[in-house]
Amino acid sequence: MSSESIAGQRRGVGGGIAFVVCGPSGAGKNSVIEGAMRSLPGLSFSVSYTTRPRRSGEVDGVDYHYISRQQFDRLLTQGELIEHVTYLGDQYGTARSQIEEVFARGEDVVLNIDVEGARTLRKQGLHDFAVVYVFLAPSSLDLLEERLSARGTEDEEQIRARLEVAAREMKALPVFDYLVLNDKLDRSIDELRAIIVAERCRICGEHD
Ligand code: 5GP
Repeated sequence: MSSESIAGQRRGVGGGIAFVVCGPSGAGKNSVIEGAMRSLPGLSFSVSYTTRPRRSGEVDGVDYHYISRQQFDRLLTQGELIEHVTYLGDQYGTARSQIEEVFARGEDVVLNIDVEGARTLRKQGLHDFAVVYVFLAPSSLDLLEERLSARGTEDEEQIRARLEVAAREMKALPVFDYLVLNDKLDRSIDELRAIIVAERCRICGEHD
């Protein structure tokens, strides 16, 4: 067996893996994802569509594609969204074409979506591609409240609503493959990196 064909026995970089990262809003998903992506090759971020207003510091086309409700409805009708959710009154959705483009480029994709979206993907899958589900959470809801308050992008009522959603989301843990605790940023980045590296070393086979 040549060395090339041995390497071909594992998924490898660009094996068409979707890493779905979920967790309560304010758990620091973005920072952990950014950190892991910076230090690993062959990963692209799936930029979701949303009707939520842009927060200061966010960039259109990088953090989200910010669109109107009418535009969102059109994407839905066209079947462009592989999953979508209404989160605290705003719409969020993942574009099929974007994921297909990443896989066509020979890269893996990272999705930052909510638990409901992960459940939809679990049910429907991503056709021939592997999906790995990672739950990222702080070790307690008190810590999450502290983080949301410190972030200063939501008022008190919005923080309460996000904490209620978070408490519900934590119950979905059994749907996931991995749990990363996000108490220390460096360690969380290391853990997410380790998951990605391990999944790329996985042997392709029937169990995929
Ligand atoms: P935020 O408003 O804080 O950016 O996001 C609110 C929640 O929506 C977060 O839990 C985030 O992961 C989730 N979210 C962002 N994009 C998508 C998406 O395309 N689909 C789903 N299901 N959730 C998303």
